[in-house]
Amino acid sequence: MTIKQLQETVDDWIGEIGGGYFSELTNMALLTEEVGELARIIARKYGDQIAKEGDMKHALAEELADVLWVVVCLANQTGTDLTDALAASIEKKSKRDKARFNSRRLNASKKPD
Ligand SMILES: [Mg+2]
Repeated sequence: MTIKQLQETVDDWIGEIGGGYFSELTNMALLTEEVGELARIIARKYGDQIAKEGDMKHALAEELADVLWVVVCLANQTGTDLTDALAASIEKKSKRDKARFNSRRLNASKKPD
């Protein structure tokens, strides 16, 4: 699925099943909620937090998809072409950070003594 197809699929679903988009402000709040759910899983799976019963009932992939869904909703309702936006972002980061991580790459390639 391309990003364009993703945007179209979400738009079709919102139109046919979802009853229309929530307002941008509501979707911003929902995005925050979904990012929180994602953070909860990451903190318990990769961080120092210890999971309580039920904490891990949602899968990491499910929460990542929930975050992406709301991002796509916000893009659609604000007329944002995510394919173009991501291409521009990659170009910006590539120019801005061309040498930024050189020391990191060099350290990663050094063999331990
Ligand atoms: Mg969720």
